[in-house]
Amino acid sequence: MKKIPYGRQYISDEDIEAVVRVLKSDYLTQGPNVQEFEEAFATYIGCKYAIAVSNGTAALHLCTLALGVKEGDKIITTPITFVASANCVRYAGGTVVFADIDPETYLLDIDKVRELLISAPQGTFKGIIPVDFAGRPVNLEQFRQLANEFNLWIIEDACHAPGGYFIDSKGTKQNCGNGNFADLAIFSFHPVKHIAAGEGGMITTNDEKLYHKLRNLRTHGIQQRPELRQFNHGLWYYEMQELGYNYRLTDFQAALGKSQLQRADAGLERRKGIAATYEKVFDGKPYIIRQTGIIEGHSYHLYVVEFHDRTRLYEYLRENNIFAQVHYIPIHLMPYYRQFGWNEGDLPKSINYYTHCLSLPIYPTLTKEEQAFVINTIDMFYE
Ligand SMILES: *Cc1c(COP(=O)(O)O)cnc(C)c1O
Repeated sequence: MKKIPYGRQYISDEDIEAVVRVLKSDYLTQGPNVQEFEEAFATYIGCKYAIAVSNGTAALHLCTLALGVKEGDKIITTPITFVASANCVRYAGGTVVFADIDPETYLLDIDKVRELLISAPQGTFKGIIPVDFAGRPVNLEQFRQLANEFNLWIIEDACHAPGGYFIDSKGTKQNCGNGNFADLAIFSFHPVKHIAAGEGGMITTNDEKLYHKLRNLRTHGIQQRPELRQFNHGLWYYEMQELGYNYRLTDFQAALGKSQLQRADAGLERRKGIAATYEKVFDGKPYIIRQTGIIEGHSYHLYVVEFHDRTRLYEYLRENNIFAQVHYIPIHLMPYYRQFGWNEGDLPKSINYYTHCLSLPIYPTLTKEEQAFVINTIDMFYE
C-alpha cells in the first residue's frame, strides 16, 4: 500500500522543463531566474521587495543580522514552531524568550507577550518573531501596535502562509508577508511547503534600506551597488564592507520556484477543500478535543487536530501507512534550550497542545480516496 505522508511536493512536467532549461543555459547559480522569481513572488505577496536566499533558515539568519541583533538582546517568539524560528536569534548572539500560545489559535498569545514586555525595563526586548503557524495568519496589526509601544521590530515567520491573509481593523485584506506591519517576513521553499524549490527561501519587506542591506549580506557582505563603494582599483574590483554569507539561491531552484508559484493558488484551493472535508467529518466526533475550524485567510500548510489518545492514534495510523505528524515539539523542551533554564513546567498551554496535536495529511495531490482512507482509519481506531 502507498504511504500517505502529512505533506508532499507536487512536481509537474512544466516544473521539470523549467529546471532543464536553466541547466542548459549559461547560469547555474544566481542568474535571471532568481530576479524573476523575486519579482513574481513580491507581486504574489503584495510587497515592494523580495530577496531570494538558499533556505528559510538562512532568511531568518539574515533578518536578525540586518536588524542588528547582538549578544544580550532579548527576542520573543512562540515555542510551537520549527526550531529555526528561534535559532536565528541565537545565530546573532541574542537571547530567545518564549511566550505561550493561545490555546484556541495555537499562535503566539499577544497578551502573554504584553505581560513579558510590561514586566521588564524598557529596552530589554528588541523584537518579536510571530509565526503564521500551520498557515493561520497572525493579526499583525495588533502586534504592530504593541511593538510600537515598546519600540520593537517584527520578523513574521510566514513559512506556512504564502497566499494567507487576515482582515485588518479597517476591513482591508492583509496578505501574510506583505510588509505592511512586520519589518521583515520570511518564507521557505522546502518540499513540504506550499511552493517547493528543493531548498530555498525568500525575505519580503517594504523597507528599502533593509532590502539593500539584505542583498549585501546574502553575498558575503559585498556591496551590490557600485556607487556605494569606498575605493576602486579597476574594473575587477568588488568591495566587502561587512561580514556576510553565501546564502544565494541557484538559478535552477529559482526556475522551479517560479514555475511552482504559478500553481500556488490552485494548490491553496485544494488544501482548503481538504481542510473543509476534515472539518465536516470530525464535527461532533467524541474523540476530537479541538478542530481547527474554517478560518478565513488560513492557508492550511498543516491541518492540525487535537485528539484524545493522540499517541496511540499516531502509532495506529503509522501501522496503516499513514504518516501523520506532530507539529511541533515545543522548542523550549529541546536540550539546547533547556541549558538556558527552560523546562516542562514552563508554557503550559504549549505543553497541553503538544500532548494532543496531530497534523493529518494535507497536500494538493492527496486524492479523495486517500483522504477517505485516513478518515476511516481514524474512525476504526476509536471504535
Ligand atoms: C520550514 C520552516 C522554516 C525553515 O525553513 P527551511 O527552508 O527548511 O530552512 C522556518 N520556520 C518555519 C515555521 C518553517 O516551517
